[in-house]
Amino acid sequence: MRDFGDYGGRYVPETLIPALDELERAWEEAQADDAFHAELHALATTYVGRPSPLTLIERFAPGKKIYLKREDLNHTGAHKINNAVGQAVLAKRLGKQRIVAETGAGQHGVATATVCARFGFECVVYMGVEDMRRQRPNVERMRLLGAEVRSVDFGTKTLKEATSEAIRDWITNVETTHYLIGSCVGPAPYPELVAELQSVIGREAREQFLAAADALPEAVVACVGGGSNAIGLFRGFVDDVGVRLVGVEAAGAASLASGRVGVLHGARSSILADEDGQVADAHSISAGLDYPGVGPEHAFLRDTGRAEYRTATDEDAIAAFADLARTEGIIPALEPAHALARARDLDAELILVGLSGRGDKDLAEVLDRLDPANA
Ligand SMILES: *Cc1c(COP(=O)(O)O)cnc(C)c1O
Repeated sequence: MRDFGDYGGRYVPETLIPALDELERAWEEAQADDAFHAELHALATTYVGRPSPLTLIERFAPGKKIYLKREDLNHTGAHKINNAVGQAVLAKRLGKQRIVAETGAGQHGVATATVCARFGFECVVYMGVEDMRRQRPNVERMRLLGAEVRSVDFGTKTLKEATSEAIRDWITNVETTHYLIGSCVGPAPYPELVAELQSVIGREAREQFLAAADALPEAVVACVGGGSNAIGLFRGFVDDVGVRLVGVEAAGAASLASGRVGVLHGARSSILADEDGQVADAHSISAGLDYPGVGPEHAFLRDTGRAEYRTATDEDAIAAFADLARTEGIIPALEPAHALARARDLDAELILVGLSGRGDKDLAEVLDRLDPANA
């Protein structure tokens, strides 16, 4: 396992340690097994639709050359499927037949329900009732795909509580069940495992960028919720010391920009909390960024200075969302719209941006904000 300095670890009840050990062993064996990589590659190319293209955009930010890594074109419309497919193959190797997951915007829930249908696993997805309201079509999608969606009706009724419920379910059913976590958060080995499954984004993007631009980007920019699409992209460039790595958080959920060291969902990282360590509520128009924690690897990259982290407001994101649609014919998800907002005012010209997902799920939310008459 990689070292994240003082961050990461396993802050979980004793009953989960054997399951985490088992998962870590299975992951290490899979990594060393050509058959695992062959199965993953076959699914990536024939089911997910990889490699995703790299698109040069020149009208969105005149004077800059911005390349988009198009994870929005994956099956199910976001990068989440890369991780879901990989963990499904692992769950099969572990002999598990039941999958539990948490979801915020519903993208991870849909990706999980999708791979469970594909592999014949029983699937239970926990989702806050506030997110179920904001993301109704994704709830319907999960049900169509055969998943049971369990509503979570306490606290902020969003991703934080849904994650707690998924962990509680896993503790109760650990013999039969794999917990398919949706980002590079949670107890070890999850942050490393998810980052590695998402690093296909960065590997492809580096090769595609060199072929298209005949140079490396000056900066690589991605939005950060839990941090999985960003770490997947960053890992392709982390050894290229001249390439700036820029993560963009929602201003109301800036665990890195305005957080403090603490423990959330089994790992030590940078979290939104008050002086007593009580986890604070996050607020973002984008359900996928509305989380008070972040993966431990990002806290480590921030502290070492290898990556820099900025914020974008709801308004910044909505403006970038609308501008990308009008200037390039691409409707992004609200999450990567945060990255686009900061990329266009960055002091760099040759930029790679992770377009982590497509915006269909966000239309109602954005139309309400752009024109109150649509409400
Ligand atoms: C879930 C999601 C995110 C945020 O999750 P990360 O783990 O930070 O990548 C970002 N973009 C999209 C499209 C998402 O669905």
